[in-house]
Amino acid sequence: MKYTYKRAAYWLFIFILLSLVPLIVALTGNIPGYRGFWTELGVALGFLGFGMLGLQFVFSGRFRKIAPTYGMDNILQFHRETGIFAVIFVLAHPVINLISNPEFLEYLDPGVNFMRAIALYFVSAFLVLILATSLWRIMFRLDYERWRLVHGFLSLAILFIGTVHAIQVSHYLEPFWKKAVIGASFLTYGYLVLHTRLVRPCFNTKKPYRVVSGNRERGDCWTLKVEPAGHKRLDYICGQFVWITIGPTPFSLQQHPFSIASSARDKTLSFTTKETGDFTSSWKNVKPGTKVFLEGPFGSFVPEKGHNLFLIMGGIGITPAMGMLRTMRDSQDPRSAVLIYANTDWEGVTFREELDVISKEINLKVIHLLEKPPEGWKGETGLVTRDLLKKHMPDNPEKSMFFICGPNPMMDIAEISLRELGIDWRLIYSERFEII
Ligand SMILES: Cc1cc2nc3c(=O)[nH]c(=O)nc-3n(C[C@H](O)[C@H](O)[C@H](O)COP(=O)(O)OP(=O)(O)OC[C@H]3O[C@@H](n4cnc5c(N)ncnc54)[C@H](O)[C@@H]3O)c2cc1C
Repeated sequence: MKYTYKRAAYWLFIFILLSLVPLIVALTGNIPGYRGFWTELGVALGFLGFGMLGLQFVFSGRFRKIAPTYGMDNILQFHRETGIFAVIFVLAHPVINLISNPEFLEYLDPGVNFMRAIALYFVSAFLVLILATSLWRIMFRLDYERWRLVHGFLSLAILFIGTVHAIQVSHYLEPFWKKAVIGASFLTYGYLVLHTRLVRPCFNTKKPYRVVSGNRERGDCWTLKVEPAGHKRLDYICGQFVWITIGPTPFSLQQHPFSIASSARDKTLSFTTKETGDFTSSWKNVKPGTKVFLEGPFGSFVPEKGHNLFLIMGGIGITPAMGMLRTMRDSQDPRSAVLIYANTDWEGVTFREELDVISKEINLKVIHLLEKPPEGWKGETGLVTRDLLKKHMPDNPEKSMFFICGPNPMMDIAEISLRELGIDWRLIYSERFEII
């Protein structure tokens, strides 16, 4: 899917509009008397933060209407950044109000209203906790799965207490329909969570896949090949990815994103991983016949018709490129492709033999880049640099799409270098495996 200014503006407009819904509701119809700039600002930030927080459930919920537009990594990055602002706005609401008008201190007095005071203490603690665990997950020694569970629980609890608080205080929410809209917003966002965590896996139980084989690859990688068990294989475009659950049920905390590395023409799907943690290390023990569940496809890391391909891949980042190149081979695609493939050493170059064969079957030029080359190596050495990309740039770069996938530092350099070399941002596509 091609990036465009129009689509970016459209989604930004929708985001701003939906974020403002609670504030617009509060300011519609009869509004109470003015209580001074700081108090009203504090209240406005509360409503705005509430709207932005609710929308985070849309971004993190892997909705396929939204996900393909900008790529999962970009959407999660957006979620991360706007989520931080949402939490800061919600936190600013009590801080500004308490400083501007000490009468609000009674909200925190359990002697005046026990439930209200306790709820406000809890929500403040939850807000600080969600911010801290999102920014410093590793420091808190939370693995990704546990963090995701805590994160979901905290977000829902914050939104629930915020809804009850706004309805209870009711200052801007008279008459009743305003309370109904705020309540309905909470229920909608709550349903999105249910949809992602329960409804979707429920549908998925009917479409299991079965492991056909597991194979070791160069570079300490492992490939799992899976086939649909009694149903049609999911439709996807090469370069896309799916969320994988391995085991008897899709209801699992261990659901991870993986690029589809096989050709879109294959009946089976294959995924290749490099061991990084508990899930990826478990692949080598997965026996043929084991059930697997796939959710997707997702991703906008896909080549458009009529464009040549310029692929800048590092290490295990090769997987989406393998999907593209294998599909080009199987469909006798006449387009040209350049692959700059960065690795530490020659022995660890995953799929190097197959790439050699594919480069003879289609119009593919593979440029291996090694950090630690063997003796007598005549190819490129070192890391990805602007000069290296310039050297291998196609004659008509505007006719190419540029795909980047690999370790984050490599991706940062490649993205900046391509922009410095004058490549239009709408032609540059990145897939980040390391989200946080
Ligand atoms: C779009 C996309 C495509 C990917 N394709 C591949 C691929 O083809 N091959 C491959 O080896 N790796 C791929 N990854 C990375 C892979 O998902 C992680 O390496 C894997 O989830 C790590 O899990 P773990 O338990 O083994 O390691 P952990 O040590 O638990 O996690 C290592 C890191 O992986 C990420 N991660 C872990 N769990 C999840 C999760 N449930 N959802 C999102 N991110 C998570 C986090 O950034 C975490 O810090 C892809 C990632 C993304 C986002």
